[in-house]
Formats: sequence, C-alpha cells, structure tokens
Amino acid sequence: MKPLRALAVASEIYPIIKTGGLADVAGALPIALKAEGIETRTLVPGYPDVMNAIEMAEQLLEWPLFFGGTTRLLRASVGELDLLVLDAPHLFDRPGNPYVSSDGLDWPDNGLRFAALARMAADIGFGDVPDFVPDIVHAHDWQVGLAPAYLHYGHRRRAGTVMTVHNMAYQGKFPEAMLGALGLPPDSFNMHGVEYYGGIGFLKAGLQFADRITTVSPTYAREIQDDEGGMGLGGLLRERARDISGILNGIDISVWNPATDPNIAARYDVDKFADRAANKAALQQRFGLAPSPDKFLLGVISRLSWQKGLDLLLETLPMMVGEGMQLALLGSGDADLQNGFRAAAEAHPGQVGVVIGYDEALAHLIQAGSDALAVPSRFEPCGLTQLCALRYGAVPVVARVGGLEDTVVDADDAAVASGAATGFKFAPVTAEQLAGSLRRAHAMFADKTSWQKIQQSGMATDVSWRNRASRYAALYREIAQMRYV
Ligand code: ADP
Repeated sequence: MKPLRALAVASEIYPIIKTGGLADVAGALPIALKAEGIETRTLVPGYPDVMNAIEMAEQLLEWPLFFGGTTRLLRASVGELDLLVLDAPHLFDRPGNPYVSSDGLDWPDNGLRFAALARMAADIGFGDVPDFVPDIVHAHDWQVGLAPAYLHYGHRRRAGTVMTVHNMAYQGKFPEAMLGALGLPPDSFNMHGVEYYGGIGFLKAGLQFADRITTVSPTYAREIQDDEGGMGLGGLLRERARDISGILNGIDISVWNPATDPNIAARYDVDKFADRAANKAALQQRFGLAPSPDKFLLGVISRLSWQKGLDLLLETLPMMVGEGMQLALLGSGDADLQNGFRAAAEAHPGQVGVVIGYDEALAHLIQAGSDALAVPSRFEPCGLTQLCALRYGAVPVVARVGGLEDTVVDADDAAVASGAATGFKFAPVTAEQLAGSLRRAHAMFADKTSWQKIQQSGMATDVSWRNRASRYAALYREIAQMRYV
C-alpha cells in the first residue's frame, strides 16, 4: 500500500502539554498510525513547554510577519513523535495553561493565536512546506477548526481534511470584526461559510468544510446530531450525516500497564491479581481512609465541571457514607465542586478522601487501588478514565452516555452469567440513578467471585489504539483517493 502522509494539528499533546483527553489522543494516535503505514507529523504551538521539550530542532521556514510577529516553523522529534512547531513567541511564549492566563481568564487573543496554528496547517496542506507535503490534514477540536476553511477558500490543490470533535461543548466563537485579521475572505461570512450565530465559529467552520468529520465514539456521533448534543451545531451535523463517523479512542497501553507501572505501589496483572491489594492499601493510606480491604472503595479522577456530573456524586455522598463505602477523589475545576468535596472530606475523615489538583502519578494509583471508578458524566464524547479503569481492574460505574455507553458492558444478569460484564451503567443521569448503580456495584462487591470475574473481564477488554488507529487509517485512505481543489 502507498504510504500516506498525514499532518495532525492540535493545541495540546501528551506528554508535553495536556489539559485533557485531546492531548492523550494527539500524543498516541500518530504512534499507533505508524503501524498502519501512515507517516504523521503533528503541528503544535511553540508554548514554553514545547520549546523546552524539543532538542535539535531544525528550522524549516521563517516569516518576519505572521499573524503579527516573527514566526518560525521548526521540525523536531520528542520520543516517537514527529513534530512541527509553530514558534511564534508573540502568540505562544506565555507560561502555564495553553488557553488561560494566570487570572483564570481566556487569553484575549485566543482567536488569533489558534487561527495562526490553523493557517499554518492549511499552508502545509497546500504543499507550501516542501519538507512535508501531506495527503491529509487532520484537525482536532475548535482551536484548529479554521484549517479546513482556509484550505477550502484557497481554491487550489490541497490535502484532504478530517475534523475530529473531542468535545462539542467547546466551539470557539469570535467577533465578526476579526474576519480580516484572520485572513478570511469577506464572502466567507455567511451561513454556509464561517458565520455562526452572528460571529465566526471556529468549530463550525471545521465541520462545514472538512471532507470528513469524526468524533470519538459511535454513540457520541449520534448524540451530536440532535439539538441537545449538537449544542447549536446539530442541524449542520444532520446535513453532513453521511460524512460523520465515530471512532473510539484508545489509551496508550504501555503508559497504562499495571504490570510495569512505576507509579503504583505493587505491580500486577491478571495472573498475579492478588498483588493488586497492596495498591488499595496504599491508596487508602494516601487519602487518609480507613485501612480496610473489605470496604468498597470508589475512585474518581476528573475535571470538576458540570459535564462530569460530580455534583450528582456529592448528592449521593450521604448514602455512600451511610452504607460504609469509601471515596478517593482527585480533581480540579469549579470552585463550588472543589469546596463541596473538600467539605465532605473534612466531615467524613476516614471515609471520604479528596485531593484537589492535577497529579498524573496519583491518577495511576487510584486506578490500581480503587475497587470501582465513577464517571457520572452528563455527556461524555469518549472518556478515557473508564478505559484506564478497565485495564487496571477498577470496575467502571458510568452514565449511559457517549463513549461510556460504548466501552462498558453493564453487569445485568445475562452479562454476569456469560462473563461479558465489565461495569455498571445508569440512565438517566441523576443522583438517584447513580446511587442505584453504586448500590448495585456494592452488593456485587460482596460476592468476591463475581466481582473478580467482572474485574478480569474488564482487564481483558481491548482498550488499545491498535484497532482504532486502523479505522483512522482506512478513513485517510478513502479520502486520499479523491483530488481536492
Ligand atoms: P476530559 O478530556 O473531558 O477531561 P477524558 O476522560 O477524555 O476527559 O480525559 C481526561 C484525562 O485527564 C485522563 O487521562 C485522566 O486520567 C486525566 N485527568 C483528569 N483529571 C486529572 C487529575 N486531576 N489529575 C490527573 N489526571 C487527570
């Protein structure tokens, strides 16, 4: 098969800079695609973390004035990742989080910053960077939604385009007045162009102009085509239904491997399953929980936001505490939720443990030490923590939405009997239903043989990128057969 070249473009990439699942995907998919004969380079902004991570960068091009300042395109590799770095200090040489300043507010020039990234992706997609002429430009999320639009409005030979939506809730809308600064033609500002409810919609533009659209699970691919899940873009997505597919995310099974994980107290796998117990003990100690192997220990690793439904978990806490369950929660986000969980931990020492913050290593210990992992999201495009949980033998208790629906097999009687069960699912997403499924899990936990069977079925589930990457590769090949002008 002819080797294909893909340019991925994303605003974050694991292990260099990460705020969520997007980074995990951007960091893992190119490596998995190598095995499919796809050569991927990933274009990322030259944030300080990126500039510090790249060694021996090669300068490909330089512009004295690109979106307002001197800009270079660099080529570098980090581990197995081949990167193209948009080194534009006036846009990206800022500390911390990629999107917000230290006062917690979005950078006021985010529109320009990410349009510059998309513009560069489009220029590469036109073949203007001789070092790497891609067949495909694969844009991830709103930040780079303008890439397919720039390619469309160039009206010349171009790469095929894929737009992947990792979360419909983030759409990137900016004022019409920016049209000129973004380098978009005046006639692009209409309903069939980049206009979105009176402004410029970055994600909207990507969804309008990409040759194909993907999102990160089959169920989410359906959900975003209705008005609620589409969050304003449902109509457009219904029109493009034939071009949409849902491809589940995988996880990096070498980073998430309980048999080799350096971040956990004791390494284990299905054959040495008894060794998992030491992780529960370590987790209980770390979170100040009563050191009891027999208490049902529920883990949570999450952004604390409305999407993730953790307010519902707060509501169920009295029930959990009353029935003797334990909670170990790691997360950060909304102040109300942070305060709520902190207060719960103070009120119930020994039963509720809370760490507010972002801690990669601790996330691994929670997966290795919890009996179950709760993901009560109101919507969840794919969700990665339940995939890690399956791999680590923490039984997922999840809302029946998006990728959670697609990746967990509910422990109903038939699934338990056949050995297919891997977790517990509930719907609708309410505190009552969450409480009900936690009770179900708790009851099953008392039956050690059945519980262990569920854990081990989860551990046998394929959560790797292998089969998922082959779907992207097939999509790329389909698109690459066409000629685009
Ligand atoms: P989202 O991208 O919506 O936040 P995902 O489940 O797709 O949710 O991905 C979240 C990723 O971030 C997972 O890899 C998860 O382990 C990680 N994560 C989330 N919160 C934390 C935290 N507080 N500490 C460490 N890792 C976290």
